Amino acid sequence: MPTDPRETAHMPRQTKIVATLGPATASPERLDAVLRAGVDVARVNFSHGTADEHVASVARFREASARVGKFAGVMADLPGPKLRVRLGAARELRPGDTVTFSLSGDPHHADDLVLTEPEVLCDVRGGQRMLLDDGRLQLEANAVTGTQLKATVVVGGLLKPNKGLNLPDTPLTIAALTPRDLEAIAVAARAGVDWVALSFVRGPEAAADVRAACAAAGLSVPVLAKVERPEAVARAREIVAAFDAIMVARGDLGVEMPLERVPTVQKALIAEARAAGKPVVTATDMLDSMRTNPRPTRAEASDVANAIFDGTDAVMLSGETAVGEYPVEAVTCMARIAVEAEAHAHESGAGHGAGYFRPEAGIDDPLTLCVCQLAREIGARAIISPTLSGRTARLIVRHRPNARVVAVAPTDAALRALALVWGIVSVRMSPTAFGGDRLAAAVRDSFRAGVVAPGDLVVLVAGYPIEGGPHYPTVRVVRVGPHGEALEPGR
Ligand code: ATP
Ligand code: MG
Ligand code: MG
Repeated sequence: MPTDPRETAHMPRQTKIVATLGPATASPERLDAVLRAGVDVARVNFSHGTADEHVASVARFREASARVGKFAGVMADLPGPKLRVRLGAARELRPGDTVTFSLSGDPHHADDLVLTEPEVLCDVRGGQRMLLDDGRLQLEANAVTGTQLKATVVVGGLLKPNKGLNLPDTPLTIAALTPRDLEAIAVAARAGVDWVALSFVRGPEAAADVRAACAAAGLSVPVLAKVERPEAVARAREIVAAFDAIMVARGDLGVEMPLERVPTVQKALIAEARAAGKPVVTATDMLDSMRTNPRPTRAEASDVANAIFDGTDAVMLSGETAVGEYPVEAVTCMARIAVEAEAHAHESGAGHGAGYFRPEAGIDDPLTLCVCQLAREIGARAIISPTLSGRTARLIVRHRPNARVVAVAPTDAALRALALVWGIVSVRMSPTAFGGDRLAAAVRDSFRAGVVAPGDLVVLVAGYPIEGGPHYPTVRVVRVGPHGEALEPGR
């Protein structure tokens, strides 16, 4: 008899959690605690800290993941062409003041401001906005004369050292990868990461640049585009096609574009990624008040849940886990909000951004959709897919099935990269004799990993043959035996 599908309603969390590492998550005890609380992917922000710190922090996270027994991923977040003002000491800017930026890197005058990439200011034209410190201070550019750019302070305030400069009105010609990014890639290769994220992506061409730079450093990993510039929003479909994943980087996005557009841009970006079967991370300020409070605001709890209803794969913590006072509580809280939101989405059938899903031509979509419907109808505990890269599993989860989706893959790198994808449980594939039953072996591996139990019904799906054999997709229904065998399901 098929089990009541509602019996499978109590599911483990399917939305993934990305946590930024920093001083608050440096000790082995803290890392164990945040991993147990639900961290699936650690983010290392190369805009802060030193190379040695990054290498050491990745090594500690790997050790903690091994102790906790989890295929957790590591994402290196490259600075990208994010402009920052080099400044010795904080300085007051008053409305109406004229400020001079040096384009050469050598200030003519002690008061001249110099940027990390000073030549970028050649692109600025009179009348364009120059936003400092996430938009807290606002200037209006006058004109470039020689090696200087003068600007008038519109909204003043205290400018602190190393704050960012956003140029929302200026099409930038700076290269997608700066020398600082190349240095960061070399460190990421030394540390051994699973994802590389590029900041301030403007177009799809950057994907080839970052892939080539990674390859040159001996790093072969999927690449993620942080969408935080208006140009990137306009070319979202091409960027999703060129990269392996995207991030809705709401921090800078809310400065580069009118703030009121952030919610709708978030929905549109998530829909684009979902349609392409690529993971999407929703980031910045999700539980920001938890930096200093053990509980989030109601608005923050709603924000996390609504990102899940939009169909995001992963939700991200930044300062909350990097420098916050309550990193473990923040992860625990995010995990609880996610489980509740998922239960609602599955029950109502309306959540998870289903309305935004755009099916592709071909057989992959109808096939994976049917597999999800089949699993639901028969009350299957899991959908298991033996895979090399995880592609079939990614196509299945974009239909947001209620069953666990198990990717059984032969390499740790593939399994750790899948840690970012909604709903995928990673299981290591054991070696099978050539010509052995790969599907039955995947059931046994899932059983040994504790993902399925004797008596469970499971749906097996293979998109492509793993070793030789004909190229036809296969779907099989089996019942898990007492020792993890793949038995006939019975009627
Ligand atoms: P981005 O635009 O890339 O998000 P950010 O400056 O907002 O850059 P986050 O990664 O969002 O940085 O982290 C939030 C804050 O946590 C940072 O502003 C910084 O103060 C702190 N932080 C992050 N990583 C580290 C680190 N490795 N060491 C020390 N402080 C860190
Ligand atoms: Mg950023
Ligand atoms: Mg940030």
